[in-house]
Amino acid sequence: MTTISASPGQAPESTRLTDGFHLVVDALKANDVETIYGVVGIPITDLARVAQASGIRYIGFRQETSAGNAAAAAGFLTGRPGVCLTVSAPGFLNGLAALANATTNCFPMILVSGSSNRAMVDLQRGDYGELDQLNVARPLAKAAYRISRIEDIGRGIARAVRTAVSGRPGGVYLDIPGDVLGQAMDAAAAADTVWRVVDPAPRQLPAPEAVERALEVLGRARRPLIVLGKGAAYARADDAIRKFVEDSGIPFLPTSMAKGLLPDSHPQCAAAARSLAVARADAVLLVGARLNWLLGHGDSPQWAEDAKFVQVDIAASEMDSNQPIVAPLVADIGSAMSALSGRLAAHPIAVPAYWVAELSERRARNEAKMRARLAENPHPMRFYNALAAIRSVLQENPEVYVVNEGANALDLARNVIDMELPRHRLDTGTWGVMGIGMGYAIAAAVETGRPVVAIEGDSAFGFSGMEVETICRYRLPVSVVILNNGGVYRGDEAVAGSAAGRFDPAPTVLNARARHELIAEAFGGKGYHATTPSELRAALAEAVASGGPSVIDCELDPGAGVESGHLSSLNPTSAAIPPPAVNAGA
Ligand code: ADP
Repeated sequence: MTTISASPGQAPESTRLTDGFHLVVDALKANDVETIYGVVGIPITDLARVAQASGIRYIGFRQETSAGNAAAAAGFLTGRPGVCLTVSAPGFLNGLAALANATTNCFPMILVSGSSNRAMVDLQRGDYGELDQLNVARPLAKAAYRISRIEDIGRGIARAVRTAVSGRPGGVYLDIPGDVLGQAMDAAAAADTVWRVVDPAPRQLPAPEAVERALEVLGRARRPLIVLGKGAAYARADDAIRKFVEDSGIPFLPTSMAKGLLPDSHPQCAAAARSLAVARADAVLLVGARLNWLLGHGDSPQWAEDAKFVQVDIAASEMDSNQPIVAPLVADIGSAMSALSGRLAAHPIAVPAYWVAELSERRARNEAKMRARLAENPHPMRFYNALAAIRSVLQENPEVYVVNEGANALDLARNVIDMELPRHRLDTGTWGVMGIGMGYAIAAAVETGRPVVAIEGDSAFGFSGMEVETICRYRLPVSVVILNNGGVYRGDEAVAGSAAGRFDPAPTVLNARARHELIAEAFGGKGYHATTPSELRAALAEAVASGGPSVIDCELDPGAGVESGHLSSLNPTSAAIPPPAVNAGA
């Protein structure tokens, strides 16, 4: 307990006071919050100071969305709510984008924002930073609460922690008006208002009959498949998952952030035969993975017409959201996988050899194709040969955390870069959002203390690029690799129509000659410029070994890359709009 007093050391215990700032910090500490990500300003600057003085690590960003993204990633990496602190109105709105993204991805996070005096806001009197933040946040968060009295601070933080991590994790907004932070109360009485949440994410056991039903479906299958999602990675049930996968012998497919939960090199991994596995599987066990757009909604022809879905999820309402779930297992993943393993002897699963062989053949064929692509050496560099260089450095450093965003930079890196360890890959997630890069990288470095490599498209990097300054200020072991083809998707689109006579580039074009590495040098980090795979390999190996901040600009062919990556089918098409022309000689 930190106390304030008019005359420290002299006041009797009964007259010692504390205030809202100290009480928020006390409540966060009581609930094991070790780090706050944020941007200071009115009315929360002193909150950050008090937190830092009391031993909580405060990481100050340049913009709140990145601070919020860091908090979200911290939630995914630790299983405890990541905390983001912002000022009112615009700062809150910037942070809210990250909170909504955290909720969409099922990451536990708490956005704490200072807000204006309620008496002003509710009569719309035009206060500094006036906005009805609680109601703005409500539809975009798992829950939104306001603390209106100093004596509710402990309760408010406990409620936020419980809500963020229990059941399906998500983002909680906590509104604290500035005047509440400034309120004072007797320190001893205040201490009694703070508590530690007991068992914040309790186990949820599956119903025994649901376990039997699931095993019966999988036992009857001729081509069973397990899909591991980022909920499975988040659940930290690595041993229980591995045991069921290996004891059942069922091939598995990780979604992008579940890569490494079991190593991509595992003999049962079907990632390199993904389309075939999905198209042919007749019974699919979804473990912490939603049948959303990323899994084609479970629809044919991507999936077999007769595919039967079994699903393990903590959220009962997730069942039947896209396809009939013939065997729902509503439970936490650790409990569900242990229960399945426990009953496997009574329901033995024999995966047919022809299914295993079919997948192995396809995997071998695709891996050979990949090797041939990676061995090509065009100049200027293209995505595959740049990624081959990155891959070789990461193979030598499997403990490195990988952050990945972009269009082509994401699609191709996901396939080229294998992961060997759980929760070591962070990417654009459920929304496919650009701008998570630096925030996620900072959180990975801060929370784990391990080296981080962020593989970025040049366009994606721009959304959070100023946070390179944050990376340098805190001397974090983050290497940012920018696959620079000079554009959104690619950098060689010609201008059309009336724009042709101006200096305006085409909508997708950025600057292929940009020297992004200079951003690192501006702030005391190390910059590298790579034009060949061997330069890139040497630069990245040195950067990772240095343990310090760096940016590597990789000069790619502006003609490398395809529009919208592999999602071009999601663009509406019109016969009236011709395909973009390419700059001659680009
Ligand atoms: P991916 O994008 O990798 O397919 P999703 O984010 O779509 O993964 O799905 C994650 C799912 O995991 C969510 O439906 C969420 O409710 C679920 N989930 C998260 N944590 C747990 C847990 N501890 N136990 C069970 N299910 C969980």
